[in-house]
Amino acid sequence: MSDPYMPLTSIKSGVLKEYAKGVYGLTVQIVNVYFIFDPDSREAVLIDAGMPKSAPFILKEAEERFGGDFQLKAIVLTHGHFDHVGALEELLEKWPVPVYTHPEEMPYLTGKADYPPAKPDVKSGLVAKLSPLFPRHSIDISSHVKPLSEDGSVPFLPGWKWTDTPGHTPGHISLFRESDRTLIVGDAVTTVEQESLFEVAIQKQELNGPPAYFTMDWTKAADSIRKLAELKPASLLTGHGVPMMGDDFSQELLSLSNRLPVS
Ligand SMILES: [Zn+2]
Ligand SMILES: [Zn+2]
Repeated sequence: MSDPYMPLTSIKSGVLKEYAKGVYGLTVQIVNVYFIFDPDSREAVLIDAGMPKSAPFILKEAEERFGGDFQLKAIVLTHGHFDHVGALEELLEKWPVPVYTHPEEMPYLTGKADYPPAKPDVKSGLVAKLSPLFPRHSIDISSHVKPLSEDGSVPFLPGWKWTDTPGHTPGHISLFRESDRTLIVGDAVTTVEQESLFEVAIQKQELNGPPAYFTMDWTKAADSIRKLAELKPASLLTGHGVPMMGDDFSQELLSLSNRLPVS
């Protein structure tokens, strides 16, 4: 089945919102993308690339917020799942920019490997039941994708560092800005129980682990959440659910890491 209908739209879909200085989140159906925008240079970097067919929506929202003359310099992927790369190929037609990812995520972005099948029984809930329909086949953006540098720097984003947070996928990363402790976590942590359609629809805010149906290694996922706790983040900008702001989330992250299922 190549193009299943997915009745998944959260009520907060749409409207770019500034969560930290220059960091704008946009909910695309069930997933968030983030623009990091510098008003002086009018340059932006996009973190993740949303659901399939959402490129026109992402473009329109960005142009409305930043002005039509802003320049996208790069796209950085937390990982390569379909809901984080869905609009990627179409966005690259408009903006032929480099796409950065962890070296271990490269096979899923160059057509060399597919993610393992979803595990719909791992938790109850309608989204989990639908998960076997979700595309898991790799895309091939070989001509654009580049590995992130091992020194932790992020191209075009001075002040930011990437850190590997494997478990949900082998090459999952998070992005941290030390100056205000802003943390973009992809699917390492969510603030909605992604397995349940009801909670996705109302975007209820609570700290949860990665979406279970697609998580490959729970031991590593828990270790990654402990690693994020050590950063003492003051905001958690998640791939799913409403971002959480203005606190030291290290204790909550530690207790979450101890609640995760065991592999
Ligand atoms: Zn994912
Ligand atoms: Zn996701």
